[in-house]
Amino acid sequence: MIGLGMNQRLTDQLAHCECCPRKCGVDRLAGGTGFCRIAGGAQIAHTGLHHGEEPPISGTRGSGTIFFAGCNLRCVFCQNYQISQEFQSSQTRTLTTDDLTDEMLRLADAGAHNINLVSPSHVVFQAADAIVAAKAKGLSIPIVYNSNGYDSVNALRQVRGLVDIYLPDIKYLSNDSGRRYSGASDYADLIPDVLREMLDQVGHLELDDHGIARRGLLVRHLVLPGGAADSRRCLAFLAELSPATHVSIMSQYSPQYRAARYPEINRPLTAREYEEVTEYALELGLENAFIQELDSRHRYLPDFDRDRPFE
Ligand code: SF4
Repeated sequence: MIGLGMNQRLTDQLAHCECCPRKCGVDRLAGGTGFCRIAGGAQIAHTGLHHGEEPPISGTRGSGTIFFAGCNLRCVFCQNYQISQEFQSSQTRTLTTDDLTDEMLRLADAGAHNINLVSPSHVVFQAADAIVAAKAKGLSIPIVYNSNGYDSVNALRQVRGLVDIYLPDIKYLSNDSGRRYSGASDYADLIPDVLREMLDQVGHLELDDHGIARRGLLVRHLVLPGGAADSRRCLAFLAELSPATHVSIMSQYSPQYRAARYPEINRPLTAREYEEVTEYALELGLENAFIQELDSRHRYLPDFDRDRPFE
């Protein structure tokens, strides 16, 4: 791994990896891999201007997405499974810190409203080094940390000040669901503190005069078929965190990847199920909620076999 351009903090973190809650303890610098299956160098599967995020993130010119390969969860319904689990994209490549820095600057030059790090939890320190370098070279647009929520609070504290917008999921508040659907039996135990830390760092979502996000927390919740009870728990927690929390309630569930093995989620969401959840959010006083059209699910399904996965 010599030549990846790493600084001392990064090498220390990767020599005994506890970058995320898995705490695998492997030496990623020596080529070792843990649950995420990514060694010392961050791998990216796709970069580009993306128009499918929430309006304050995509804006008019697009969000500058950097999709990392690998993941520290194994969601059986993952719509990005080609790059998170199967490493199928022909565009996947391992980057040095300098390469990652250059990608950020290139996306900014292309007009991106922000740099959107997609699934960064297992490469948080590699990304942090590149952010520092890119800011030193003049990068001034917001950094978006777009994660599954299965993050290490300790790692987040170490990157405090580098991230402008946190865009995490709250997938479940049930450890049974976390274990069954994502291979993380402590997801529900950990996500509350992760979200508290993120809110403490960046505060509530702030928009500029054009409605583009410049700072803050925007939490995503994907409603699962038959999952109304857990959706209610997630939303109640967000309301308790603060009724001003911005939440994106997503209807785009589609039974992808291994969902067919789980009969209870092997179907699309119904309109009634989605309405029940969104109505409950309003009952809770969560007025900063983004709501999708139910027929949007096909629009959001990427195919990373294509050069342009979202078209
Ligand atoms: S980042 Fe990867 S190797 Fe490190 S603790 Fe998490 S899953 Fe394990």
